[in-house]
Order: sequence, then structure tokens, then C-alpha cells
Amino acid sequence: GDIELRRVREHVWEIPQEGEMNAPARVLASEALLDHIGDDKTLEQLRNATHLPGITKHAICMPDGHQGYGFPVGGVGATDTTDGCISPGAVGYDINCGVRMMTTNLTYEDLQGHEEELVDALFEAVPSGLGGGGVVKGDAETIEDILARGMQWAVDAGYATDDDLAHCEDEGFRDDARPEFVSQKAKDRGRNQIGSLGSGNHFLEVQRVTDIYREDVAESFGLEADQIVVLIHCGSRGLGHQTCTDYLRRIEKEHKDLLDGLPDKELAAAPAGSELAEEYYGAMCAAINFAWVNRQLIMHRTREVFADVFDRDWRDMEMRLLYDVAHNIAKKEVHEVGVDPEGRPVRDGDAVEREERELYVHRKGATRAFPAGRPELPPAYADVGQPVIIPGSMGAGSYVLRGGDQSLDLTFGSTAHGAGRLMSRTKAKQEYWGETVQDELREQEKIYVKAQSGATVAEEAPGVYKDVDEVVRVSDELGIGDKVARTFPVCNIKG
Ligand code: 5GP
Ligand code: MN
Ligand code: MN
Repeated sequence: GDIELRRVREHVWEIPQEGEMNAPARVLASEALLDHIGDDKTLEQLRNATHLPGITKHAICMPDGHQGYGFPVGGVGATDTTDGCISPGAVGYDINCGVRMMTTNLTYEDLQGHEEELVDALFEAVPSGLGGGGVVKGDAETIEDILARGMQWAVDAGYATDDDLAHCEDEGFRDDARPEFVSQKAKDRGRNQIGSLGSGNHFLEVQRVTDIYREDVAESFGLEADQIVVLIHCGSRGLGHQTCTDYLRRIEKEHKDLLDGLPDKELAAAPAGSELAEEYYGAMCAAINFAWVNRQLIMHRTREVFADVFDRDWRDMEMRLLYDVAHNIAKKEVHEVGVDPEGRPVRDGDAVEREERELYVHRKGATRAFPAGRPELPPAYADVGQPVIIPGSMGAGSYVLRGGDQSLDLTFGSTAHGAGRLMSRTKAKQEYWGETVQDELREQEKIYVKAQSGATVAEEAPGVYKDVDEVVRVSDELGIGDKVARTFPVCNIKG
């Protein structure tokens, strides 16, 4: 494209501020990853994001970044909560899409010979695909309760333990959730989907730990080589999608002036302090609660399946939640920001001092990566930094990182969320045939994949994703997320 990047230092590139931009933009990538990032509209979308009112310091693209709806996937944008804005497009349609990892005391050897039985049983027990229902059928009251109380509802209903809550971002519960701002239509869509993977990119994967990079951190996370772990990736289903749609429409109607000032309608944002901003934030937080319950119910079913297949209580198999992280979210967080003599946020080089500011940190396809010491961290990780979970693909490694000590300075405490897509779904279906991919994975890699449709497998074939090892290398070298362990798939179910 016509967008020039200035090299700041290794893995750090900048689109300088000019014209109507409210800040410069930064891309964190190696030259190899940058090649792909230049392929689509990512850089244009990133530059557009700097037009958002109140955007602070930089709009930032993570190493796995690619084009999204309005705002890049792999994008981080922090906007001031007093004179900035909040943008549903910078959160994403799948509010609180995220991943959780559950550890076990089983080894790969314990599991070998049971792969087929396990993948079939998981596929049977965990609702997936379009339709298919959920683990729980919610009446109107249940939905309200889930939206208001998140995983606290799951504890009361017998689907979660207190230990699960203690190992979830925000303890699985946002108290600023306002269910009354979630439309009836969204609630109705959610009712039949409480505890369901959905289709396409979402998955449940049984994995084995192949590599440990930081022994001491791995030990605090309870990870060791050859261990079996489970990774669950899904979000808020139709409820979150409908909520995003509802608020995009309202912004178009009620804040046309702000919208007209932005280079792309898809960036639609509500001004901080407006009624609509407050309502969207409350509704988004409610959808966040829904997604946490969703992943919790799927984990609960997974424990039951393991208990069946291995004929042991799940507690004996020490099936514990390592951590649950959101990767499509906006949150009010306090960050230190450099300011100029008038108190306006500026880049570090131009700052005369640093002040604490409350910001809406939008992480879209980006994971919070707080280092030790941030007050948000649960006691288990307060001294080590939070676990960060980065999936690769059904045929590649995935990673556990820990929040790095450079992340607060460089990325408002964030890192990548995956390998990132390389190829559109349409192109993927031309390149790959689902059954062939499945057969090859089984024969060559001993990976057992089961999906609702062959098309899904083709759309999600390992080759449609970038090199996750390279993404994680950049994160580690920048010090925003440090490598702790690598895993590899054993069984995978897809919607
Ligand atoms: P997204 O949230 O953007 O849909 O996906 C997050 C990341 O998950 C992708 O960038 C990709 O790297 C990874 N991913 C997609 N499918 C699979 C899978 O089946 N297994 C694993 N381990 N990772 C996957
Ligand atoms: Mn999602
Ligand atoms: Mn996701």
C-alpha cells in the first residue's frame, strides 16, 4: 500500500502522526511478519484508528495483526474515558472471545490409545456448530442472572468451583455489567447457546506440553513436559454478536457527527460520557459475563468426559483452570501516560511528566499481558505475571506466555492472541479439502480432529495461519509476553 513505515528499532515500526491523526501508530513485528501485514488493509485500518477521539500514545498492531471489521484484529487502542470514546468495532463482534487452559496430572502416555474414544466423547458432549443447543437451556431469569453475575452464577449452579473463579481474568465476573442494556433479541439468541462452542474458528483441543522455556514460571503455572492440558476457545455467541450490531446501529443514528469525522464508518464510536457510551459499556460487560459462563460450562463438560473415559474423578486428575483470558474486550484501566506541559497525552519522548489516566483499553484479537505487580492479578500470579494463552492452529504448537515487564510501556499491557490468519475462508476452501487435512493430521502428526463439517476443517487448515513460533518470538524479544511453554494438539473438536 501507500503507507510508509518508519523503523524505530528491532520489531518496532511507526506510522508517523500527520493530518487528522490524533496519535502515531505502531506495528510490532519482525520483517517476515511485516510482509504479511502489508498484504491487506491492516495498516490502513491501523492508521484510521488513530483518528478515534482521545486515542492515547499510539494505536498498536500486534505481531499477529490482520485486517478486521474497521479496526485490525491484533489491534490495541487506548482512549481516554473522559474526553475520548468507546468503539464497538475496536472490541469486535464476538465480545469476550477468549481462551482458557485447563491443566491435568495426566501424561501423553496415559492418553495414548484413548485418542479416538476421547475425541468422539468430547464431540458428543460439547455442543457445537450452528444450532445444536447449549449445555444449559436458559429461561429468561437464568439469562439475566448469567449476564449480571458471570461465573458466580456458575458456582451457585454447581458448574464451577471457587478455585475456577480465582483463575480467570476479572475472576470471571464484571460488576459493571448492565443486563438491562442488552436487547431482548440478544438475550433470546443467547438462551439456547449457554455452553456451546459455535462454529468455524472456535475449538476445544486436548494438547500435550512439548517444551518448557522458563522452568520457574512453568512451575508456578503448574506446567511440565509431557503433561496433558485442554484449551478452549470460544466467545459470547449470538448474544455478543447481536449486542455489537445493536450498538453499531444506535451509534449511526445517535452520533452521526462523530461518525462523519472518522475515515471509516466501521470504526463507529460513542463519545465518552454519553448515555450511549455508558449503555454500550454496561451491555458489553454483560456479554463478557456470558462468555465466561460459556467457556466454564464447556470446561465442566470436558471434566465429565475425562472422568468417563479414564474412569476417575476429575479432581483426582487435578483438572484445574490455569487461566482464562479474553481477547476481544474493552476495559477501563488505569495506565501511566506521558503528558506535555498542558497535560495532554503525548509520546514518551515529548513528555514532561507521567500521569495516571483512566482509559478504555480496546483489545481486539489481543490478549492482556500484565506483568507482576498489577493490582488486577489474582494472588496466584501476583508475583510472576499473568498467564497469556496463544493458540497456533490445529496442526501447530500453541503457547503459554507470561505478561512481560515491557508490556505496560509498549502495549498498555497486551500481546498477540494467536498466529493470525493468512488467507481468507473463501481462498482456504479452494486450497484445502477437509477430509484430506484430517487424514494427513492423523497419519503424520497423530492429531485427531473431529468437526461438524469438512468445510470448517478446510477453512481452519494449519496452512491458513501465520507462523505462531515467529509471532511468539517477537512477543518474547520485545518483552511484552515471555515464553513459558509450548503445547501440541492431540485431539481437536471444531464447530
Ligand atoms: P481468532 O480468535 O482470531 O478466531 O483465533 C485466534 C487464533 O487461534 C488464531 O489466530 C489461530 O492462530 C488459532 N487457532 C485457530 N484454530 C485453531 C485450532 O484448531 N487449534 C489451535 N491450537 N489454534 C487455533
Ligand atoms: Mn470468536
Ligand atoms: Mn477468538
